[in-house]
Amino acid sequence: MSTTGTGTLAPVPVSQHRVVEATGKGRHFEEFLARAEPLPELGECTAACCYRAVAHPQTGLCVPHAQLWRADGRPAGRAFSQWAARVRQPVDSRVLSLRGLPELVRLELVYAIGCRAAEQVSVVTGGMRPWIDQLRAAAVSSLTEFDLDELSCVGDRHHVRFARFSFDRVRLAYADPDKEQAKDIWDLRLFGRAGRRRLDFTDIRQPWLREAAKRMGGGHGRSGRRRSPRPPHRLALRTVGRARLWPRW
Ligand SMILES: [Zn+2]
Repeated sequence: MSTTGTGTLAPVPVSQHRVVEATGKGRHFEEFLARAEPLPELGECTAACCYRAVAHPQTGLCVPHAQLWRADGRPAGRAFSQWAARVRQPVDSRVLSLRGLPELVRLELVYAIGCRAAEQVSVVTGGMRPWIDQLRAAAVSSLTEFDLDELSCVGDRHHVRFARFSFDRVRLAYADPDKEQAKDIWDLRLFGRAGRRRLDFTDIRQPWLREAAKRMGGGHGRSGRRRSPRPPHRLALRTVGRARLWPRW
């Protein structure tokens, strides 16, 4: 805002019309400042993913979401609620919003991001944001419900690699070594082996011999006791109540 040499308000942009209304034509700026009171808070943006303040009281949206709302044809009523629940988050290199996602998905993503950081793989927000927005738009209750084939047409982008990484690590976290031994192809990470090595028993055609090989591969001796303890890396994600997870890592 600027003042003229006489101390009265100069013409102001439309966005400052409330200041003009409060001061009135011809009043001194200092008089306005002495009597000015803070305007009521407008609250946070209506978009489920958003962390910004409302800039447009008519829609309850922040500036970037108001732009997206107009670009998407100004949905209203029920269409607006659905749009607000699934619209993408603002682009900000310092913020990654998990808002608007179910608690289980948020925990899965935090776990995946932690794995990624531990493995010294990039965790820049731009490399994760698009897939997180896709999860929100797909309304999944667990990221393992997302069909990764939907990303096959995108190519080898950062967020696609993050999606595959997250899916793999979360799936591994949920896996049970005992159930894995019933399969014909094992993921050896479940048994404490580093890397992504697999053990494939499908070449053994005789069922009895295949099962015998599995028992040997699973570390069971003749007594049937497991020789090695459960792998230390195995994540325990336990359900508590309705789909509440408690990651222990
Ligand atoms: Zn917003």
